[in-house]
Amino acid sequence: MTRGRADIVVELPAIRHNVALLRQHAGVPVMTVVKADGYGHGLAPAGQAAREGGATWLGVATIDEALALRAAGDTGRVLCWLTVPGEDHAAAIEADVDVTVYSRAELAEVVAAAAGRAARVQVKVDTGLSRGGAPRGEWEELFRRCADEERAGRIRVTGVWSHFACSDEPDHPANDAQQAAFDDALALAAAAGLSPEVRHLSNSAAALLRPAARYDLVRLGLASYGLDPAPGRSPDLRTAHRPGLLPAMGAVARLAMVKRVAAGESVSYGHTWTADRPTTLGLVPVGYADGVPRHAGNRAEVLVRGKRRPVRGRVCMDQFVVDLGDDHAEPGDEAWLFGTGLLGEPTAQEWAEWCDTISYEIVSRIGGRFRRGWVDESTRGSNA
Ligand SMILES: *Cc1c(COP(=O)(O)O)cnc(C)c1O
Repeated sequence: MTRGRADIVVELPAIRHNVALLRQHAGVPVMTVVKADGYGHGLAPAGQAAREGGATWLGVATIDEALALRAAGDTGRVLCWLTVPGEDHAAAIEADVDVTVYSRAELAEVVAAAAGRAARVQVKVDTGLSRGGAPRGEWEELFRRCADEERAGRIRVTGVWSHFACSDEPDHPANDAQQAAFDDALALAAAAGLSPEVRHLSNSAAALLRPAARYDLVRLGLASYGLDPAPGRSPDLRTAHRPGLLPAMGAVARLAMVKRVAAGESVSYGHTWTADRPTTLGLVPVGYADGVPRHAGNRAEVLVRGKRRPVRGRVCMDQFVVDLGDDHAEPGDEAWLFGTGLLGEPTAQEWAEWCDTISYEIVSRIGGRFRRGWVDESTRGSNA
């Protein structure tokens, strides 16, 4: 495969595999969450691969993301869940997107936008995350209004849902409390006369760690891309016959320069690292403007010529420096920042640990001047 200066390589078969594996493991239908450009993997290609892997639903944050899926040809069920007053609900309804309401005001906006089309609406209840969703004191009234609108034929309530705060910590008491609150909300919805098609509470970590919270649907983001939402805690989905989750994204750049420095020479802005012996440095031509965290300075590693090479000094806007020791390397050599880990390269999870963050942030922020390409069975061996 011809590599450019810097490439993000997305393996679509890995996404398909992960979605199918998770679907089988969860035992309920799956919504693959493709918000934020498919966590950096590409909204439309990730969405299509997820459908092929068996995702019944795709989930996005914004109406714009939902409409972009439709523009790319997706015709399946799509849910969006984050709007501000005045957004184009009519476009979403027209495009057969299920929209989420958190409040009576939002419900009124959707009803007005529906103009008789029986908008598909899901109600999000806040069970303890204290982020989006209707607060507990408003559930009863919101459900009652929804039921009124449904009886009048102006909407169809297709879902009631909520979101965990601590699902990556399975023993955290908030999980039980949130699930109990969710059950209360479902009872109130039923009492109001609603019979939602899907009730859903679990993201990736909960789907893996809390089987009792799967209800009718699980919303899977991170795990669909092959990353572990609860590192060290998630079940291993591998069997003798099939691999477990496969990271779908690789990031690779080609060395721009290789040079020898003497003992005592210092590297990059602020001279935060000094060679204690003569060594060879490689210049990696991506930086924080391309989503390589500045926190990676003097912490992260990349794979060059089969070996892990430490980052020396600060990560700059466009470039950073790695230590090749006394090994031979040449400009143009590949430096793998992260990938599956199967060839010795770091994983996005390792980058997350080096940079005091989570792998979600590593993959969703990498980009900038990387060229992104999608690899599939049919394109393997050609340009990504
Ligand atoms: C992003 C998001 C998800 C997916 O979470 P993961 O931890 O990536 O599985 C699920 N539901 C909602 C509401 C989200 O915003």
